[in-house]
Amino acid sequence: MLRIGLTGGIGSGKSTVSELFAGLGVPIIDTDRIAHELTAPGTTVVERIAELFGTEVLASDNSLDRPRLRQLIFADASRREQLEGLLHPLIQERVLQQMTQLTGPYCILVVPLLLEKGWQSLVDRILVVDAPPELQFARTLQRDDRPAAEVHAIIAAQISREQRLAAADDVVINDADRLELAAQVEALHKKYLQLATLS
Ligand code: ADP
Repeated sequence: MLRIGLTGGIGSGKSTVSELFAGLGVPIIDTDRIAHELTAPGTTVVERIAELFGTEVLASDNSLDRPRLRQLIFADASRREQLEGLLHPLIQERVLQQMTQLTGPYCILVVPLLLEKGWQSLVDRILVVDAPPELQFARTLQRDDRPAAEVHAIIAAQISREQRLAAADDVVINDADRLELAAQVEALHKKYLQLATLS
């Protein structure tokens, strides 16, 4: 099975693009979703995070206080690395597990930090969703209940648009409406089906 790694900056449109692929029947593995599942209330991962960061990252019902945790890791890069050191091996393990269960000519693996974290070896091709930073910023602010400074910090911590584009095998340009986006996804779907028959 051909493995397409879908990446892009925050608010670039990764989820929107992956939903369009899913609508065409393509299996999707989403590492953000896996991270969420791994940190569900009552899991040993949440206990471990509380050991590392203190109980201040727990809400009153012992679930993870995600906004608080985000605040901590964006204020301190070493803490972010600690959290990633805990989560990333577990996420990769689940990705590989899920891949063995998929059938079909190709799958999409959504990894927001694919390039930053060097996950290229997990995939055969890299598909970048590209959007101008001002659109990324505006869309993220509209979608999330996050302070503007945090969104700026996240964009600044991610690799540049130029670096991302340089690493891309394919690019979806998400600077217009959803119809335009769907047309690009359909064209890529045809291309991937063809590539899959050759691989
Ligand atoms: P990502 O997964 O890369 O963070 P999303 O797919 O969640 O980005 O997109 C960010 C926000 O922008 C979402 O609320 C989404 O619905 C919206 N959005 C994405 N693409 C478009 C588009 N072409 N037109 C209008 N809104 C869009």
